[in-house]
Amino acid sequence: MKEKSTLKRCNTQTLKIHETHPVWKTLPPLTFEVKKANIKARLLTGTYLLQDHVQRFTGNTEEQKCQLCQIEKEDIVHFILRCPALNEKRQKVLPELKQQIVNKWHEHFMGNKELLVQTIIDCTQLEINILNINQETAIEIEKISRKLCYHLHVTRTLLHQRLVVTGQNVAKDPGCK
Ligand SMILES: [Zn+2]
Repeated sequence: MKEKSTLKRCNTQTLKIHETHPVWKTLPPLTFEVKKANIKARLLTGTYLLQDHVQRFTGNTEEQKCQLCQIEKEDIVHFILRCPALNEKRQKVLPELKQQIVNKWHEHFMGNKELLVQTIIDCTQLEINILNINQETAIEIEKISRKLCYHLHVTRTLLHQRLVVTGQNVAKDPGCK
């Protein structure tokens, strides 16, 4: 299972039979929370459709650009951390996440977007647990990142719909630092 490239950010050790990944385990029984977990699970398993994937199907390199900002390729790092069109939503949730990993922020995360994305997608997958986080913190990080991914998804969907109507790009200001 590990060789499957779409699962490279998912801690497959936690995907044992009869056990539930934290994306589901930390979930209150509410429809809204289930919706959020669905989006998170798609990002976790690499099945959330971004322009980067579209381009791989069509072979048209122009199509890999983010349709919202047209600045660069829309891959998972762009979607979660960089797209300026989603920055407002992102900045509402990211401080909560930073709060959970505040002691490690300067040491590990400054400028390391890959690590931050990994923390958001599946913090249990980090190398020999770089964060040295306990279970409660891991659950908190999972909840916050589930919220973040869901808000980004909803905003992206809305902006895409608006784009279809107006045909205009949305934002050009700088994304997440
Ligand atoms: Zn973008």
